[in-house]
Amino acid sequence: MQAVVIENHGGPEVLKLREIPVPQPRNGQALVQLKSAALNHLDIWVRRGFPGIPLPIIPGSDGAGIITELGAGVSNFRIGDKVIIQPLKFCGNCKRCQSGQENFCTEFGIFGETGDGTNCEYMAVDTKYLRPLPAGLNFSEAAAFPLVTMTAYTMLITRAGLRSDDTVLIWGAGSGIGHMALQIAKWKGCFVIATAGNDSKLEKARRLGADLAIDHYRENVADIIKLKLGRRGVDVIFEHVGAATWDISTRLLAHGGRIVTCGATTGSKVNLDLRHIFYKQQSIIGSTMGDIAGFEEVLKLVNAGDLKPVVDRSFSLSEIQAAHSYLEQGGQFGKIVLTI
Ligand SMILES: [Zn+2]
Repeated sequence: MQAVVIENHGGPEVLKLREIPVPQPRNGQALVQLKSAALNHLDIWVRRGFPGIPLPIIPGSDGAGIITELGAGVSNFRIGDKVIIQPLKFCGNCKRCQSGQENFCTEFGIFGETGDGTNCEYMAVDTKYLRPLPAGLNFSEAAAFPLVTMTAYTMLITRAGLRSDDTVLIWGAGSGIGHMALQIAKWKGCFVIATAGNDSKLEKARRLGADLAIDHYRENVADIIKLKLGRRGVDVIFEHVGAATWDISTRLLAHGGRIVTCGATTGSKVNLDLRHIFYKQQSIIGSTMGDIAGFEEVLKLVNAGDLKPVVDRSFSLSEIQAAHSYLEQGGQFGKIVLTI
């Protein structure tokens, strides 16, 4: 089968298409013929390299396809079933897993980061990670939502405790995670402020329900929000940008406000004035991936049509280098998908 393989860390040129054997499903596994895989920013970090990445590795955390073979002991799926892959790997036995905190599992992993992922034609997957393809979605849309949506849901609902009367600021609403965070906050009934980098993205954010859309390159985000909300400030700020937006986020945060962060694309060292944190009773919350209960909630919302993954552009497996370059340029609205 064909697979994208990273053998050395570096730029998009290290993504090689290789011919490798089709894996055999072991006990409790199904062989999934992948039809689509989605790119995430995680793929870029894995490609560039950070400690703990096993090489060589097949990247890719999200995927959707058809079961073509079953390992021994599988009774909950059949050959021909259309499925999506839940990207968080967990043991299911440790104390954290037993208490429903799979993202704190001692064996926590992510497909395409701690082991081989979805940028290939076939993948042998434990069936505990498989779910039926959501109603009304094609393979590309189905591959586009799991990682970013379970992450955004966990950040806003589980970690930040989003309430319907909260005002929410979503930085980078055109990104894969941002466009899902925007929809989750609207589903919750919040007043949502979205930022994006050009007019076309701002228009798409408005169409997804943004009550106020601001160009974070050409407009003064802090001034516009202060004018709109007055002294009240923003209750929940959805952060994944880091250094470039942090000072504005802390300045805009309301009394009792929560900043929830899952990334630091522009840098991870930031300023913090502890007096604001205690006097204004604010919270800074870190979040990574999500738990399985949250993923099931996300599936319900996707199946009900409350959350709709937006596919910006599709590439073939052989265009993987171009797909990574496109993601790094940040011009997309929604998700970039590989059609396999
Ligand atoms: Zn565990």
